[in-house]
Amino acid sequence: MKKGYVRLAMPKIQTDSIVDGEGIRSVIWFQGCSHNCAGCHNPNTHDFNAGVERSLEDLKNEIRELEFQNGITFSGGDPMQQIEALEELARFTHECGMNVWVYTGYTFEQLLELAQKNDNYMRALKQIDVLVDGKFVMDLKSFDVQFRGSSNQRILDVKKSLENGKPVKVSKYR
Ligand code: SF4
Repeated sequence: MKKGYVRLAMPKIQTDSIVDGEGIRSVIWFQGCSHNCAGCHNPNTHDFNAGVERSLEDLKNEIRELEFQNGITFSGGDPMQQIEALEELARFTHECGMNVWVYTGYTFEQLLELAQKNDNYMRALKQIDVLVDGKFVMDLKSFDVQFRGSSNQRILDVKKSLENGKPVKVSKYR
């Protein structure tokens, strides 16, 4: 993806979601994911050439106009696979007074490894409040866990996880 742009699965920001994290949230659906989880709910988001391209400046204008939202959830697709765009949009989300949740097929430990080779991963992690990590695993699919599809996925407090150098779950979620 060229600098200053992001490829999205849905052209507009989805607002007022109560299932993509805590509170009333807006969701930005990224296009492109290489994890290939069996039973993925959003297979149409896998192709890195599909979806629509939007400039980050244009998308920021849309973020700036959001009202009555606790935060923005970046989902997809895998937002971590457009890491520079994710970092910039997450930073801007904080500047607008909203919190940031990110869904990714990578584990936190894998992201730390990626961060050793590419600074952009650490820059992005520092802009994330809550990370829902790991691939969707059909055999572990559960309706008893909150905000995620399978029980292997974790809801992590990223600030505490970075401070500890290992994943720290947000304990209030079942
Ligand atoms: S990481 Fe998410 S979008 Fe990607 S294949 Fe797995 S479930 Fe689907």
